[in-house]
Order: sequence, then structure tokens, then C-alpha cells
Amino acid sequence: MKLSEIGEFGFIDRLRRRAPGGAELVLGIGDDCAASRLAPGELLLTSTDLLIEEVHFRRDWSDLKTLGRKCVSVNVSDVAAMGGEPSSLYLGLGIPAGFGVEDLDAFADGVLAACAEYGAVLAGGDTCGSPGPLFISVTVQGRVPEDQLLTRAGARPGDLLWVSGRLGESALALRELLAGGRPGPSAANAHHDPRARVALGRALAAQGLATALIDISDGLLADLGHILDSSAVGALVESAALPLGPDLRASLAADPSLIDLALSGGEDYELLFTSPPALAPAVAALGTELVPVTQIGRILPQGDGLRLLDAQGRPRKPSRSGFNHFGS
Ligand code: ADP
Ligand code: MG
Repeated sequence: MKLSEIGEFGFIDRLRRRAPGGAELVLGIGDDCAASRLAPGELLLTSTDLLIEEVHFRRDWSDLKTLGRKCVSVNVSDVAAMGGEPSSLYLGLGIPAGFGVEDLDAFADGVLAACAEYGAVLAGGDTCGSPGPLFISVTVQGRVPEDQLLTRAGARPGDLLWVSGRLGESALALRELLAGGRPGPSAANAHHDPRARVALGRALAAQGLATALIDISDGLLADLGHILDSSAVGALVESAALPLGPDLRASLAADPSLIDLALSGGEDYELLFTSPPALAPAVAALGTELVPVTQIGRILPQGDGLRLLDAQGRPRKPSRSGFNHFGS
């Protein structure tokens, strides 16, 4: 079915009928604004991501349902990275000519499924035609108890540096896709369907286990750099300790330089956090319970800067540059 047959308002109505409400959502899709209730003692978290076809994704690399899921997950990851949990999602769409109703339904399937998985509701958005590529803007709102907010500032010398999940396979998949190849299943999954680590972020915040927290979207060293800047500290990272998936491990056997995908590749959406050594058993327990966590280094005084050891334990000059849209 052509989109012109149902029009902008037909599409919005279609979405409205499919989007469930929530306890905090007083008014969802259908009026000029959504209206939500805030609980006393909680902070409202808000974050926006813009995803542009050919810049952030290619339509021939993943189906629209998976793309819908990914748009939600990468946005919700920012809420997880503050120790919060998501509540509402807002979806801006610039839709190219030729997009069918079935295409939008498939995309909405992914968006709504991911919202449900994270306990969030689709509360609003905006819909326009695009003369060019598909534009997707996602805004998430979440909540966190005021005394549990975790930021990039707060890491202290002596803290241990931890990361969730595995690093580098999303970048490995992108590298293979750009070269016209087909990524292995683990890498493809990491790239097309990352999971936001909400339960881990919440547990770290609620149990007071982390001193600083960030999600890795631009690459481990680049995002660690943000913690170092905000916390005014240095750090040591041990390449040999990095958690790697099976596809990256296999590729590394042929080309050891691919360890750089784990150090500087983007779009891992894992949580990177610092925690005092005395709390290591509690952090490890969360790793067993929720999602694996690995200690990959420790925090040093600011004057030590960022230090990197290679897979053999030899000092190596680190590059903090991750992905930068306006970089050369
Ligand atoms: P307005 O002209 O006041 O901006 P719209 O016609 O754009 O109103 O939107 C009507 C309702 O539909 C609003 O509640 C808006 O949040 C919702 N809406 C529009 N587009 C989307 C979308 N892509 N996803 C979710 N909700 C949407
Ligand atoms: Mg509007």
C-alpha cells in the first residue's frame, strides 16, 4: 500500500492504535504534546539521537524491523549510561518517496517491540516526507532517583575500570559490510541488534557500585577519554584483558592489528564504568546475574594520562580518536 493512500494522519492513527499506554503517561500520541507524570525525588533524563540513511545505516544491510529495534536500543543506551530506566520514546521520521505502508509497519514493529522490551512507551513524534534519505530522530526520556544519578565525572585514582559484554564486533561487522563481505553471526548481531544494558546500569546505580559511567558508542578509548576529562584522572587499559566475541577472535588470529576494532571501533553500546576495588566482588556478582562484566584496567592520577598495554603487555601509544562526524 502506498503511503499516499493513508496519508500522514492515517499513518499517525495507525501508530496510535498500536502504541500501548503506561502508568506515567497521562496523554500519549494524538494531542499537541504528550503529558507524563513525574515521581517526587526522581530526575527526568532526556536524550536524542539522529540517524540518517547512508550515514548511520544502509537499508540493504538490515531489515526495517531490526533497524527499528536498533534505533530504540542506541537511544535507550544513553539512559542506561546514567543509571536510569527509560519511560517514554519520541520518534521523528523523514520518510523518502517510495516508502510503503508495509515498510513503515515493519519499522514500527521493531520500534514497538524494543520499547516493550525496555519497559518504555512510544509517547509521540513527528512525521514528514523527505526529499532524500530516510531520517530517524529518536528521543528517549527516562527516570533515575536523584541520589543515584551516575555521570562521567566521579572516577578516582585506584578505581578499577570495567566494561560489560564484548567489544569490537560491531565495528568488525561494519568493516566487512563496507568491503562487500558478509559478517559472521556474532558480529552481525552486535552491529544490527545491540542491546541497551539497562538492568546493569540500574543495578550499578541502585547499589552504589560505580563512581563514573558511560556507554561506548564512539569506541572504548574515545569514550574512556570522556570519563578521564570529566573526572580529571588518567587510566591504564590492558589489551589482553579486553572481552572479545568469537568472530573478532577468529579474525584476530589472521590479523592481530584488528584488536584496534575493540579499542577504537564504534557502536558497541556496552557500559564502561569505574568502581572502587573493595566493591569488585559485588560488581562481579552483577556480571554473573545480568550481563558479563570484565575488568580491563584501572584509574590513575591525571598526570599519568591514558596508558595502553598491548596484548603482550608492552606499553603502546594509545589513540583517543573514535568516530567523529566532522573529522577528516
Ligand atoms: P502537531 O501538528 O501538533 O505537531 P502532529 O500531527 O505532528 O501534531 O502529531 C499528532 C500526534 O501524533 C502527536 O501526538 C504526535 O506526537 C504524534 N506523532 C506524529 N508522528 C509520530 C511518529 N512518527 N511517532 C509517534 N507519534 C507521532
Ligand atoms: Mg508535528
